[in-house]
Amino acid sequence: MTFDELGLSQKVLAAVSAKGYTNPTPIQAQSIPPALQGRDILGIAQTGTGKTAAFTLPMLSRLEQGRARARMPRTLILEPTRELAAQVEEAFAVYGANHKLNVALLIGGVSFGDQEAKIMRGADVLIATPGRLLDFFDRGKLLLNGIDILVIDEADRMLDMGFIPDIERVCKLVPFTRQTLFFSATMPPEITRLTEAFLHNPVRIEV
Ligand code: AMP
Repeated sequence: MTFDELGLSQKVLAAVSAKGYTNPTPIQAQSIPPALQGRDILGIAQTGTGKTAAFTLPMLSRLEQGRARARMPRTLILEPTRELAAQVEEAFAVYGANHKLNVALLIGGVSFGDQEAKIMRGADVLIATPGRLLDFFDRGKLLLNGIDILVIDEADRMLDMGFIPDIERVCKLVPFTRQTLFFSATMPPEITRLTEAFLHNPVRIEV
């Protein structure tokens, strides 16, 4: 299996090739085609399996049409920690090198002003930790009704950190018709319940 067979855009394929990847990892090979078709994904995968590219690459392909509006991000990626959020931002810089997308990061420990300016400019991709995201939402600085793709990454770590009520709230604030890409290394009962409540007929991929 090569990257060319997955249905990704030319811009994305050029960035993947520049990065030096030759073959998709199993989670990438299995999740990218259905993600490009708009299907929900339940990926049971650890860090190190290539799961970041498994959601980043199809998102980039799907973001090539359209523009973001002020305060209304088009896609949202939730990460449990600032460090993971920053790593995903870096992945968008690398894989999105041929795109002109606005990527915004909403994490604790960074001044509100800079983050607000990026959201005001219109974010194609918003990468956030749950607490800071809802803080912005509750201050009226952010709208979540334009989200087309929602990514929930490291869901079992979110559970360990007490973020499940925040995740449930976000899932209810984004449009019902969005696509959801959900990743967890393990599937404890609380996470299974969350996927049953918020994923629509997902493709289940276990690597
Ligand atoms: P992740 O599981 O997303 O944290 O990725 C783990 C590591 O694998 C990262 O350093 C990626 O740069 C690398 N990686 C991801 N996809 C591929 C691929 N298809 N071929 C080679 N390396 C990859």
